Amino acid sequence: MLKALFPGSFDPPSNGHMNIIHRVSSIYDEIDVVVATNPEKHYTFDAAQRLELMRTLCEPYNNVQVHQWDRLIVEFAEKVGARVMIRGVRALSDFEYEFELSMINKGLNPRIETIFMPTDSKYFVLRSSAIKELARLDGDISRMVPELVAERLKNTIKSGRKGR
Ligand code: ADP
Repeated sequence: MLKALFPGSFDPPSNGHMNIIHRVSSIYDEIDVVVATNPEKHYTFDAAQRLELMRTLCEPYNNVQVHQWDRLIVEFAEKVGARVMIRGVRALSDFEYEFELSMINKGLNPRIETIFMPTDSKYFVLRSSAIKELARLDGDISRMVPELVAERLKNTIKSGRKGR
């Protein structure tokens, strides 16, 4: 059985992330999406919110499960017996970072392979930070994220403004 991990921050999940999940779910028997939490990073959505959003969005796929993990991703792979880790790449700039990350992970656990999947051209410019910036400025993000995410992002930004 071929099992793959798809780790990421998913802050928030975008159509680009969902496109990768859609494509890999037809190649591998089982996909574990891993919502990562790095204590050094500041997130718009906390880990529980990102987990819940991802679980709802992945419901249509019966071979996709969503987990949360705040330690090394290779440890998660070892724990669940996955040998493949999927990373999406948009441009050359992504590749540089992703390539370095794959070398680090390979050094930590040589049994786990990173597989790069190029983005669909429709999602080439989708970056979570840009989506959040656009949402903050009331820009139209409806083609960039699932409807549920657009709604949640708007509400989070609104309640942040009230709190100021
Ligand atoms: P991380 O903080 O781990 O980079 P992200 O949520 O930003 O988490 O991204 C998770 C994965 O999804 C990464 O491999 C990233 O390159 C990929 N990704 C992000 N946006 C897109 C997109 N529009 N198309 C394809 N892959 C994407």
